[in-house]
Amino acid sequence: MKHLRSVKDLKRWRLSVSDNIGFVPTMGALHDGHLSLIRKSKENNDKTVVSIFLNPTQFDNTSDLENYPASLEEDLEKLRSVDIEAVWAPKFEDLYPDNYRYSITEKDLSLKLCGEHRPGHFDGVLTVVMKLFNLVRPKRAYFGEKDYQQMLLIQKMNDAFFLDIEIIPCPIVRESSGLAMSSRNKRLSQKGQKQASHLYQVIKNAQNSAEANQKLKESGFNVEYIEEMDGRRLAAVELEGIRLIDNVSI
Ligand code: AMP
Repeated sequence: MKHLRSVKDLKRWRLSVSDNIGFVPTMGALHDGHLSLIRKSKENNDKTVVSIFLNPTQFDNTSDLENYPASLEEDLEKLRSVDIEAVWAPKFEDLYPDNYRYSITEKDLSLKLCGEHRPGHFDGVLTVVMKLFNLVRPKRAYFGEKDYQQMLLIQKMNDAFFLDIEIIPCPIVRESSGLAMSSRNKRLSQKGQKQASHLYQVIKNAQNSAEANQKLKESGFNVEYIEEMDGRRLAAVELEGIRLIDNVSI
C-alpha cells in the first residue's frame, strides 16, 4: 500500500496510473462501515484509493472538531489488512491553498435537515469532495447511506458539474445492537452506547415521525430533527453531548 502524504505525491502517483480507480473519501477513525465501502470498491475497480482528511471546513462546532477521534496509525494498520493500492492523507494547507476563499454552495437541500442545524456544513463537504475528486479523478466513488443527505448532495453536484463519476451508495453498517457505526460512537460511555441503539429501533418501528419524536425524547435523546424525505425517515439526535444521525427506508 502506498502512503501518499501531499497533493504533489497524489498528482505524481495519479499521472502514473491509467486503470479504473475506485475512491473512498473518509475522515479517519476507520471502522467496519468504512471498510464495507472499501471492499465494494475493491470488487469493482482495478485500484482503490482511500483518503483520510479531517476536513475542518465542514465543522460548524469547534469542540466537535477538536474531539473528533484521530488514529492515523491504527487506520493505516486496518487499510494494510484490506490491501488497497494507496492511502492519501493530505494536510489542510495543501488541500486549501486558497484558505477556503473558494467554495461550492448548494442552495436547496443543503439548507434542510442537517444543513439547517449545521450552518455551512455542506458547503465544506461539497468543497472538499470537489477538490478530492479533481485530484484523484476516480471512475467510481463510494459513499455511505449513513450520511444520506450528504450522499444525495454529492450525487447532484456530480450531475450539476458534469463530473461523470459513478457515485455508488453503500448500505449502512450497524453494530449488533442496531446502532449505526460511526467514528463518534467511540466517545459514548458504555451506558450511552446501549442507549444510542434505541435511535435505530425507534425510527425503524415508529408509525410516523411524531411518534418517533416522542419515543426518542422518552429514551433520553435531545432530538435535533426527525423528518421523512425521499421514502426515508431521517433523524439527528444528541446524547451525552455527541451528535448522532441515522436513517431508514420506510
Ligand atoms: P466519515 O469518515 O464519517 O466522513 O465517513 C466516510 C464515508 O463512510 C462516508 O461516505 C460515510 O457515509 C461512510 N460511512 C460512515 N459510517 C458508515 C456506516 N456505518 N455504514 C456505511 N457507511 C458509513
